[in-house]
Amino acid sequence: MKALEDKILNEGTVLPGDILKVGSFLNHQLDVAFLLEMGQEIARLYQGEQINKILTIETSGIAIAVAAAAFMKIPVVFAKKNRSSNIDCETYTVKIHSYTHNNDYDAVVSKAFLNAQDRVLIIDDFLANGQALGGLLNIVEQAGATTVGVAVAIEKGFQHGGDKLREQGIRVESLAIIDSMDSNTIKYREQA
Ligand code: 5GP
Repeated sequence: MKALEDKILNEGTVLPGDILKVGSFLNHQLDVAFLLEMGQEIARLYQGEQINKILTIETSGIAIAVAAAAFMKIPVVFAKKNRSSNIDCETYTVKIHSYTHNNDYDAVVSKAFLNAQDRVLIIDDFLANGQALGGLLNIVEQAGATTVGVAVAIEKGFQHGGDKLREQGIRVESLAIIDSMDSNTIKYREQA
């Protein structure tokens, strides 16, 4: 999505540790009009697929998931992050390693909001090594539901989480894929 690639170039900052900061529109301040453009693009990419639910993870996935849901007219369920493990038969729980905080946390979804009949689109803001999305895929599996595909705003292609998911046969749509980045230059992968 050219508009996203340009926005990252204009407003993004590359920090040490391969972290891209996009706090001006996605991760701190929310540019709602632009989020809706991204949501509309995700809805277009998955048009014609039978999807009845979006699954994301708090906090940063929620905004773009809501934007897509506004066009797809389906609910959003977000996994909650818990520090301590609380084994509970009313929830699906998975352990996820956080790339940005370098720690582990439990992601928890109530069984009331995900079941075997659901056809799910998984959405997040970033895809790096694929730990967060891997955790959400695991939760869909625990529910016996079907993952129709994954959509993210920004994939850091050089960390290869997206490639691994595609190799598993999972449809992954990324609105921008960064092949390399440093404090001066960001290079994007060409997409059809
Ligand atoms: P992964 O689990 O794929 O390694 O990392 C994805 C998760 O880490 C996303 O949910 C996102 O919140 C966070 N993340 C990974 N890389 C970046 C980055 O460069 N910038 C920001 N803002 N978040 C990132």
